[in-house]
Formats: sequence, C-alpha cells, structure tokens
Amino acid sequence: MSGGHSLFERWRGRAAPAEEPVPQPADVPAVGLQLWLDGSARVLRLAGPLRSVLALPTQAGVRLHDYVQPYSLLVLEGEPPDWQGQPLELDFKAAGGRTLHTRGWLLAQSGGWLLQLFDIGDLLQHRQQALAAERQQHLTAHLACALRTCTIERLQVVAEEQLNWLVRHWRARGARVLVQTDQGWQTYACSGDALHWPRDEQLAPVLDRQLPASMISSATEPGLQDLLPGLSTYLLAYAQGQVNQAWLICVEPQEVLQALDALLVAAAFVEPLLGRLAAHQLDQQSERLDSLQLQLGAGWWQWRLDEPQLHLDPALAESLGIPPALTVNQWLSRVHPADREATQLAFGDLQRQGCAVQLNLRLLDHNAQAQPRWYRVCGQVHGSGGNRRVQGFMLDISDIKTQQLQASAAQARLENLIASSPAVIYVQRYHEGALLSEFFSASLEPLLGWQPRADEPLQPGQWLHPDDQPLWLERTRILLREGSSRSRYRLRDHQGGYHWVLDEARLLRDDLGLPVEVVGIWLDVSEATAAAEKVRQSEERYRVLVEDSPAMICRYRPDLSLVFGNQPLADYLECSPAQLAGLNLGQWLSEAQRQAFVERLAGLTPEQPVSNAEICLQLPGREHAWWVWSDRGLFDEHGQLQEIQAVGRDNTQVRRTQQQLLQSAKMATLGEMATGLAHEINQPLNVMRMAVVNALKRLENGEVQVDYLQDKLKRIDAQVLRASKVVDHMRVFGRRSEVEQQLFAPWQAVEGALSLLADGLRGKGVELRVQPPEHDAQVTGHQDQLEQVLINLLVNARDALLARREQQRDVQPWIALGLECDARQVRLLVEDNGGGIEPRLLERIFEPFFTTKPVGVGTGLGLSVSYGIVDTMGGCLSVENGELGARFCIELPRAQIIS
Ligand code: ADP
Repeated sequence: MSGGHSLFERWRGRAAPAEEPVPQPADVPAVGLQLWLDGSARVLRLAGPLRSVLALPTQAGVRLHDYVQPYSLLVLEGEPPDWQGQPLELDFKAAGGRTLHTRGWLLAQSGGWLLQLFDIGDLLQHRQQALAAERQQHLTAHLACALRTCTIERLQVVAEEQLNWLVRHWRARGARVLVQTDQGWQTYACSGDALHWPRDEQLAPVLDRQLPASMISSATEPGLQDLLPGLSTYLLAYAQGQVNQAWLICVEPQEVLQALDALLVAAAFVEPLLGRLAAHQLDQQSERLDSLQLQLGAGWWQWRLDEPQLHLDPALAESLGIPPALTVNQWLSRVHPADREATQLAFGDLQRQGCAVQLNLRLLDHNAQAQPRWYRVCGQVHGSGGNRRVQGFMLDISDIKTQQLQASAAQARLENLIASSPAVIYVQRYHEGALLSEFFSASLEPLLGWQPRADEPLQPGQWLHPDDQPLWLERTRILLREGSSRSRYRLRDHQGGYHWVLDEARLLRDDLGLPVEVVGIWLDVSEATAAAEKVRQSEERYRVLVEDSPAMICRYRPDLSLVFGNQPLADYLECSPAQLAGLNLGQWLSEAQRQAFVERLAGLTPEQPVSNAEICLQLPGREHAWWVWSDRGLFDEHGQLQEIQAVGRDNTQVRRTQQQLLQSAKMATLGEMATGLAHEINQPLNVMRMAVVNALKRLENGEVQVDYLQDKLKRIDAQVLRASKVVDHMRVFGRRSEVEQQLFAPWQAVEGALSLLADGLRGKGVELRVQPPEHDAQVTGHQDQLEQVLINLLVNARDALLARREQQRDVQPWIALGLECDARQVRLLVEDNGGGIEPRLLERIFEPFFTTKPVGVGTGLGLSVSYGIVDTMGGCLSVENGELGARFCIELPRAQIIS
C-alpha cells in the first residue's frame, strides 16, 4: 500500500480539489473520502480530498446509492446499521465517466454514520496487471510449446492456430507473421477477419527501414497508416544479431499495446517458429547434401594431425568397404600401389608444412576382382596447436577418369589416323575476311613434300596450279558465305608435279555466329581422277563401238524387256533406239521359241554366264529372221540374274542358203535314189502287168473264173497302193522343211526312209534287219531332215555292201536298224556288214566333198550334210567300225515332254 498521500497526488493531477471548506469533526482526520450519512443512508456531508473527483449527483439530499456504480449497490444491501463491522468496497462514479475504487468502513456517530473510505485504484490496477502478466506468460509458454512440439508438416497450421489465440488475447482484428526469405519478406501465417492486408512487397519497404527489435505503431509510422488506413496497427520486430528476422503485425488491438510485453509475446511466437524453420531448412540441406554425396560418391574425411586415426564419412566408408575410423597406414594400404607413394608424400607435406592436398588416386575395392575406383582427394589444415586437423572431401571421379582415358585414347587414335592418313587436315584462321593457314597435319609432307614451319605458315595459294586459281578463290568465297565447301583443284608438290586434291572444308563459328576458323581436309585424288578420266575415255570408246557396231547389241532384263538397244537392233525392229527401251523381246518369238529362250536364260549361272543360240524371230514385214545370238548374264551378289547383255548377228541369209543346200542335198538324194525308186515303182508295175497279162490270157481261153479275176484285181490294187505310197512319201520328202522345229518320234523317220528304200534294197538282195523299238521317245527337229540322214546312211551302206559283193560273191549283205533310248537320249543305230571304213579315213568321212566313190557317183556331201542336220538338232552323228562293217550312231537329245 503506497499510502493516501501518493494516491492523493495522483488524483490531484487529474482534478483540482474543491476550495469549499469542509466541516471536520475534531476527532476525525480529513483523509480519503468521508461521507456522513443519516439512518437511511442519505448523504449529509462529504469531506476528504477524494471528494473533489466524485461525479456529484445534481439533485440534493440524495442517498449514498446515487454516488456509486450500479454494481456496488449489491454491497449496500439494507440500512447503514447493517453495514457496520465489515470492510466495504465501493466503486464511486467519478468525473469524466471514470470509477473511483474505494475501500473503507462505517463508523457510528452521534446522530448518524460516518463512512470512511480510501482509494484502492492502484491496488486493483496492480492486481490486474499481475493477472494480465500471468495470462500473457501462460499464453507465450503455450505458444512456444505448441510451435516447438508440432510436426514440421503441421507447423504452419499450428502457427495460424496460435496466431488466432494471440488475436483473441489482444482482442485485435487481425494479426500476421512475416519472415525473411530469399525472396524478401513473406507472410507465413495470417489470422483475423477479412482485412485488406497489403501485399508483402508493399509492406517490405516499411519493414526494411525499422530498427532491430522495435515496435512500430501506425500512430508514428505514416507509411503504415497509408497501407492500413484508419486502423491502429502495430509492427513487432524479432531480431537476431541486430537484424530483424521476422515481424508480427497486430491490427486494432482493443488496448494500447505495451512495447515490452508485445515484443516479448512476438518473440515467444516467432523464436520457436524461426527455430523450427531453420532446423527444417538445415535438415533439408543436410538431406540434400547426403543425397548429393551419395550420388557423387563423395564424402568428407578428417584427420587430427596428432592422432593416428583418420575419420571418414560413414556412408563413404561403407561404399569403400572400410571402417569409418582407421589409421593412416590402413588407409594407405587401400590406395592402389601405383598411387601410394604420391599419397604418402602428400600426406607427409600436409603433416609437416600444412600444405593443402589435392590428389587423384585409385582406391582398391574390397572386392578384389573389381576395378579400382578413381577418387579426387582434397584436404586442408584447419586450427592450430593441438587442435590442428585436416578436413577435406573425397569425390568419386571414376566416370570422369574413364571418360578422360577414353577421350585421350580416342584422341591418340585420331592423331594417329590423321598422321597416317593419305589426307591432309588443315586449319585456317579467319581474320578480317581473310583465311590464314595455321595448321597442317603431318601428312602434308608425304603428300606434297612441303614441311609445315612454325615461323612462317605455308599458304596453299602459292602451290595452286595457275589454271585452278579461280577455283581456289571461289572455294573461299563459298566457304565464307555458306559455311562449307567441296572443291577439286591441283596443288604443286615440292618437285613441281601437280596433285589433284579434293578439298572438303567447313567454317566454324563462335556463339555469336562470327567466323572463327576453317577446318578442312585434302584428299589426294590424282589417281582417282586419272582413273575416272580413263574410264570416261574407255566408256566413250565402248559407246562408239556399241553404237557404230554392225552387230545388234542390247541389254535386257530376265523378263526379256529391253533396257537398251543399238541402232542395228532398232533397224531390224523398225523403230528408233530410244523406242527400244521397255519393248519385250518375247513379242517377236513364237511361243516355242520364247519358251526355249527363257529356258536357256534359266541355265545361266555366275560360273557359266554365257550362252549362244540361233533364235528365230517373226519380224515386222518379214517372213522369218534367224539371229545368231550370244547372251551374257549379269548377276548380283546373291547369284540372282539381274540383266543380260546380248550381241546378235542376222543369220537369216546363211540359214536360207543352208536350207537351200539341204533342199538341194535332198533333191540330190532323191536323184540318187532315182534308180532305186524306178525299181520301187517298176516292181508294182511289173506285178500288175503280169496279173493283167495272165488275166487276159485266161479271158482269151475262156476259162475266166470269178475268183481268179478277183484275186488278180486285188493284187493289182495292192500294188497301186504300194506305188502311190512311195510317190506320196517322195512328195513329202521333197518338200521344203518347216521353219521351226517340231516334236516327232525318230522311228517315224526310220519308217519314212524305209518306205522309199526298203523294196529297192531287198530287190538288190540286201537283208533289212529292222527292230521296231519299245519306246516312242520324241525328239525336236525336222522329221524330213532326219529321214534324209537315214536315207544317206542306208544308201552309203547299200553302196558299201554292193561294192563288197562285187568282190566276194558269197557275202550275204544286211543292214540292221535299231533304236536305243534312255532318260536323256535317243540313239538310232545303222549298221551293215559291208566291211567298214578304212580306219585312217574314219576321221575324214564327214568332211564335205570327201568321197571314195568314182567321179559322178559320189558327191562327198551326204555325210557332211547329215552331220550338220544332226548337230542342228542338238545331237551328234558318229561312226565306228563294227565286227563286219560300219556302225553309224545318230545320238539325239530326248525332248522333255511337259505334261
Ligand atoms: P558319198 O556317199 O557321196 O561318197 P558320203 O559323205 O555320203 O559321200 O560318204 C563319204 C564316204 O564315206 C564314202 O565315199 C565312203 O567311202 C564312206 N562310207 C560312208 N558310209 C560307209 C559305209 N557304211 N561303209 C563303208 N564306207 C562308208
């Protein structure tokens, strides 16, 4: 209790005491407030210094009840005598709407009561302050605790909850917490009704100009008033080390905030919050760092220089398969032997002179089979005296090392390649629109004989062939304009000879697109150029040859479509060479010819790419053309026929002549056979004559019998048939051969020949031993021609037999005819017992005009023509001497009948 005096002083400051003299009973000192009351509590008189602060009721004679605040009326229950003997606490209405808190007691006086009261306002205020302080303490403790104990994920939610509490505590409209981040001041939590909060950036300039740990109110800070007009706002700073770290803003608290209290509350709120945030940031950083270290294969290491032990980041130690604490020697034993000495020396220096270490070394893996890994080990000495220690990190650089090794190997290979390549690599530096040669690879010397010199760079312009100088200038222009060029020019070597070089160059530019240098390559293409020129010339020669050749030359595909044909071919086919491409050769071939042609092509192989044939074509406006045709197949790498080159010669004329020759030979044969044929026909005529004569004789004698006549007439008829058969066949035989070959059975030709000759032969006493075949194998060709061959052979045999019989009367002449056949061939055999051919003549009998017969009898053409015919049929005519005579064999390919 501070006593009435000080209270009085306080009150005096607010209102001057009334001048009115106060009647004072002698025994009562005039202190505090004294009220004399009557028995019904009517105020008779007021005294004491506090009297002046009371708000006096306007009417007179009022009761004590009119002086007190309504809630104090409870105390004034009953009449004054009831209030005696107990302390009374009464709150009086004071001037200016205030309250005067009093405590006192009632004393009985003569004729009334004296109420003696003292001011207890201060007492109450202190109690309230203590209470408020307690509440605040409770609140701050609660705030701090809530913020410290929540999970980091809930931190912001909890912060807002706590801010709500704070708003309630201050009975404010809103509050907000801003924290300093990388992006400046940012709101972290917000509470309160829908205030038009300024944005963080608007607040920032106001916040930035405040002193550390200060409380600012809108009353003193006009900037704040502008941002939150009409609202009493407080800014509460939280500082660490003279720097504001956070702000708590409180808007419209019910009461004026006391700086000290408010700043304490703000600190209680912000400090744990910032602590948590910082810790979280740290956690994240260390997590990032750990993950980074793990990914990089990096980690720290530490070594107290006066201790034998070295410490490693546990994760790193685990990845290396070593304990996290180990002696320096143990550590050295893990270093690859090749790097151990360097490591030892560096560690020695470190220990003695405190030099920083920076080493690239290999560490042996705990798995002995695995490759050692490369590490970069860095370390620096920190501290002094007994606290000297090395701190550093190790970084796995195996990947980089491998790449480095690969790169240097690749570079070495490249350099080697450049040095040993037949190409020269050069670099020209760009300088103000000009290109200055700067580098030539070592291959310049072997190529041109010039030696790159360091002092005076070689300029290729000096070595250019005079004719090629424009090419060189053009190359530089193109290069600068388009960024790359490809050109070909001649360069002089140190001996004065010229080399054709192919120049491929590229202009390199910097980031801004400005030219920096030209990298180019020269390839010596002299040989290739010369070869190309030769090829061109030879191509030209061949072109002329092909175009001017009298032979038909063409290229066509396996489907017979022409790719190219020369003038002679075009002439035959009655079109221009240009029109030939695309035409199909097959259109001029008969179906059989086309099939044979395609079959022949199918027989071409890379080993036997050439085939020759005589083909027959039906050309426009001509009967038939015979071409001697030579094909050469061109194959791809799989042996597939791609194209055919063919050369042809028109053989029609020769063929015609041949045919005429054949025809005349046939006619000659016929002529030769004339005697025999006359006999053939005479014979039936004789028989008929005899029959007629005999019949007439009988008629004259009158002994005609029907049977007899019938028999004679039948005989005549048979002879007529026989004669007409011979004549018919002669007609057939005498005809020209068909143009194209046909399929026929060779035995038919035997029968045809016999029909002309058999009777004649028998008439001459020659026995015919004919053995009809079991097969009806077929061959391709002309039956009349084979018949002619057989006639020739039979006639020759007959001649030989007759000649022999002249000498040896007792000889029984015979001719044997037979047919043998296998899957691929048919053989016709003609054998006689005429004594054979003189062995030394055997080789010559097929020659044209070779004969042993007297002049006028033999022509010497029979066998040679026969040989030609059999050959055209794809067969072979051969002879050998048998036991008794000559044995001729006509060997023919059997036609493959496709059923
Ligand atoms: P030519 O019959 O007109 O003499 P060829 O060419 O037909 O002409 O015959 C040539 C020769 O071959 C004959 O002159 C003959 O000497 C001999 N010659 C042919 N066939 C026989 C044969 N069967 N026996 C003996 N010699 C033969």
